[in-house]
Amino acid sequence: MTRQGIEGVRPGGPEDAVCGVVPARAARPRDVDGLAGLLAEAARNGWSVAVRGGGTALDWGGRPASADLLVDTGGLVRIDHDAGDLVVEVGAGTPVAELSAVLAKAGQRLSVDPVRAGGTVGGLLATGLSGPRRLLTGALRDLVIGMTVVRPDGVMARSGGRVVKNVAGYDLAKLHVGGYGTLGVIASAAFRLHPLPPALRLLELPLPSLAHAERRLTVLRASHAVPAAVELDWPVEGRSRLRVVLEGTPEGVDSRAAGLLESLAPGLPAEEVRVADRLPDDWGLLPAEGTLIRLSVPPAEAAAAAARAAELGGAVDTDVRTTGSARAGTLVTAVPPGASVAAVTVLLEGLRSHSGWTATVVRAEEHLHAAGIDLWGEVPGLAVMRAVKDAMDPGHRMAPGRFVTGAPHTPREE
Ligand SMILES: Cc1cc2nc3c(=O)[nH]c(=O)nc-3n(C[C@H](O)[C@H](O)[C@H](O)COP(=O)(O)OP(=O)(O)OC[C@H]3O[C@@H](n4cnc5c(N)ncnc54)[C@H](O)[C@@H]3O)c2cc1C
Repeated sequence: MTRQGIEGVRPGGPEDAVCGVVPARAARPRDVDGLAGLLAEAARNGWSVAVRGGGTALDWGGRPASADLLVDTGGLVRIDHDAGDLVVEVGAGTPVAELSAVLAKAGQRLSVDPVRAGGTVGGLLATGLSGPRRLLTGALRDLVIGMTVVRPDGVMARSGGRVVKNVAGYDLAKLHVGGYGTLGVIASAAFRLHPLPPALRLLELPLPSLAHAERRLTVLRASHAVPAAVELDWPVEGRSRLRVVLEGTPEGVDSRAAGLLESLAPGLPAEEVRVADRLPDDWGLLPAEGTLIRLSVPPAEAAAAAARAAELGGAVDTDVRTTGSARAGTLVTAVPPGASVAAVTVLLEGLRSHSGWTATVVRAEEHLHAAGIDLWGEVPGLAVMRAVKDAMDPGHRMAPGRFVTGAPHTPREE
C-alpha cells in the first residue's frame, strides 16, 4: 500500500465519540481509493473501525466495544443522476437532503421518508429502516440496484449496477443495508427512482379505541385506493390517529380520498376528519431524544401492538408513543428521555412475550447501556447472521458490539 491511504489520519477527540467511545484516531478519505487504503492499513494493524456519516444516528445500535479508527465519509460526496433511466449513483457521504434537492429539480425522488434530519446516504443505508412510504415503493433495500463497498481487508467490492434489471450481486447490498457498518464501509450506492407524483392527499382520522382501529384497517385492506402510507400514531395520553397518504393525479387522489372517507368514516363529523394536500414538515421524523424501540409484528396485529405498547407505558407511568406503518407491521415506540431501566424493561418484556412480535432497541440512552439492557431480544435467523459476519469480517474488527452479531454473548477477537 502507498502511504496515500493513511494520509490525513489524526488523533481522535471527544467530538468524534461514538456512543461515548472516543476513537483513538480518525480520518476522512477523499475518495474510494483513499478509503480502500485506509481500511487496508486498519487490517494490517488489527484496528477496530467505526464509520461516521452525518453523525445523526451514531447513538443508534449497540455501544462499540472499541474504536481504534473512525472513518468519516464526508469526503465521499458525488451525485451522478441519469434522469432518463430514473437511476442515480450517489457517494456515501452525500447528505440525503442534497440528493433530494437535485432529484426534485428533475421531477424525481428517492422514495424514502427521512426519519432524522441531517443524515447521509451511507448512514441511511447502514441504519436501514424504511419510513412510512415503504408501503408503495418497497423498503429502502429494494430501491438499491447497486452498491460499492470496501471490505474490512481494504478490497473494493461492487454488486449490481445502474441498470434496474441488472440484479447480479443484489444480496450483497441487502446485507449492508441495516448492517450498521459491521460488514464493511459503504462507499456509494445506485438507486432506482420514481417520478414525483403531481398530487397528494393526507387523510387523518381519530382512533378512539382498538376496535375502531381494527375496523378501519380492515376496510382499508379491502379497498382499491392503493395508499402510499397507512400510519398509526398511538400515544399513552391523548388521541390516537390514523393517517393515510394517497399519491397520483389531482383528480385521481380526490376521487380516491372521497371513496375512502365514505367507507372509513361513515357518520364521522366533518370536524373529526382532516384532509391536507401536503405532508407536515415533521412527517416520519422520530424524536431526536430518548429511547426508540422498533417493533416488527404481523401487519394484521399492528394496531394491537401499538395499543399494547401504550398499555404497558401507562402501567409504568411512562408516556410512550408508538408510530409506524400499520400495513407493513413496522412500528417504533418512542420512550421519553430519562425513563427508568425498570420501565423500559417492563415495556420490552411485555412486547417480546407476545408470540410473533420482535422488539429491538434501536437507540438506547446512556443509563440503559450502562445497565446492560438487552437491545435485541430474540432475533430470528441469528445463526445465519453470525455466519455472514464471520465470513465477511473474520477478525470482528468492523464496529464491534454495534449490531446483534456482536452482542456480548458472541466471542470477539479484539
Ligand atoms: C433502524 C434504523 C432505521 C432508519 N430508517 C431511516 C429511514 O427510513 N429514512 C431516513 O432518512 N433515516 C432513517 N434512519 C435514520 C437515518 O439512517 C439517520 O438519521 C441518518 O440517515 C443516518 O445518517 P448519518 O450520515 O447521520 O449516519 P451516522 O449517524 O454518521 O451513522 C449511522 C450508522 O451508520 C454507520 N455508517 C454511516 N455511514 C456508513 C457507511 N458509508 N458505511 C457503513 N456504515 C456507515 C455508522 O457507523 C453508524 O452505525 C434509520 C435509523 C435506524 C437505526
